[in-house]
Amino acid sequence: MPVNYSTIDTLIIGQGLAGSILAWQLMKSGQKTMVISDDAPPSASRVAAGLFNPVTGKRLVLQTHAETIIPAAKELYRELEAHFDQRFFHEKSMLRVIKDAKEHKSFEKRSKDPAYAQYLGEICDPPASLISSNEVFEQHSTGYLDTNRLLDCLRDYFIAQESYRSALCNYNDLTITDKTISWSGIKTQRIIFCEGFMGKNNPWFNWLPFQPAKGEILSLRTDHSLPDQIINGGKWLLPVHDGSYKTGATYDHDLSSITPSEAGKAELIDGMQKLFSSAIEFELLDHKAGVRPNTLDKQPFIGLHPRQPEIGIFNGFGSKGSMLIPYYSKAFAMHLIDGSPIPVEADICRIQHG
Ligand SMILES: Cc1cc2nc3c(=O)[nH]c(=O)nc-3n(C[C@H](O)[C@H](O)[C@H](O)COP(=O)(O)OP(=O)(O)OC[C@H]3O[C@@H](n4cnc5c(N)ncnc54)[C@H](O)[C@@H]3O)c2cc1C
Repeated sequence: MPVNYSTIDTLIIGQGLAGSILAWQLMKSGQKTMVISDDAPPSASRVAAGLFNPVTGKRLVLQTHAETIIPAAKELYRELEAHFDQRFFHEKSMLRVIKDAKEHKSFEKRSKDPAYAQYLGEICDPPASLISSNEVFEQHSTGYLDTNRLLDCLRDYFIAQESYRSALCNYNDLTITDKTISWSGIKTQRIIFCEGFMGKNNPWFNWLPFQPAKGEILSLRTDHSLPDQIINGGKWLLPVHDGSYKTGATYDHDLSSITPSEAGKAELIDGMQKLFSSAIEFELLDHKAGVRPNTLDKQPFIGLHPRQPEIGIFNGFGSKGSMLIPYYSKAFAMHLIDGSPIPVEADICRIQHG
């Protein structure tokens, strides 16, 4: 039953994965919440492959708080799946290619560490089609989120609750007093910005060290018989539930153009082909680009403005939104409701306000 929203608790700006899931957590707790989002591109969430991988990089680094972050994500996605009667999170193991002696050494070291036990499998023989004949190992607790399907369901849900407006929120249109914030006829106790990389231009939070990175990704179809696992060897190839594949991603701090490029496409095709022992014929279905909201210290930006606590930010999930947002959205929702602490590594208090 839609609520009368003449005065609401929280206005959320941005319906990417961050704003959508934070809104869901707040509404679940009975908070009157409204989401405003500019539907025009770019939204990183609409481009992302949604890969979910707790152990990343050449040095095989385990995600901080993986032991709580991973279960929190799986629990939330199952809850959303039950609510919408749809499948969003697809568990899929990953074949990680060991490219050189250094990576082999990292694997040896990590595989002796009990903290990694549930995430790393054994070194095994690669499938015949893989070029990386040397070595591969399996990674567990990996998979992908069907982000577009989830965002469509959540947007429809917000619309049904009369809690969504498709609009660009111009900062100059906000009227802020010490009691309320007004925007386009809506009065709210607080506003939380979930603007993705565009948060770097937000006048209340432009002192936070964002380090956005453009990324490109391809969707393709092939008749080759390939492993039904994510293959990760620098570039990665993800088998998607509809029979297509995604391959990605490029990584570039140059934002002079944020649209798909021929150079990006060539880099991705070359990287994908290098995963295999012979050339893969494929049909290109789609080519997209987006900008990741990365941060200098690779941790999220969560919290309320140091001088205007009615204004907050929930951002900075970099390349790991699908894994991190469920855990941090729950923590931030609790902070907004009862003052529970924000996890220190993500709290914007760690950065001095300029
Ligand atoms: C190529 C690529 C591949 C990626 N692959 C993965 C992956 O495999 N796994 C993974 O976990 N992550 C991946 N990511 C990262 C992931 O996309 C992000 O971590 C996550 O989606 C960020 O979500 P967000 O809601 O913070 O930002 P966004 O998705 O960018 O959402 C922000 C939204 O706010 C809206 N907005 C901004 N300002 C305003 C305003 N003033 N008024 C109204 N609306 C506004 C924007 O239009 C947008 O819709 C990838 C990103 C890219 C670009």
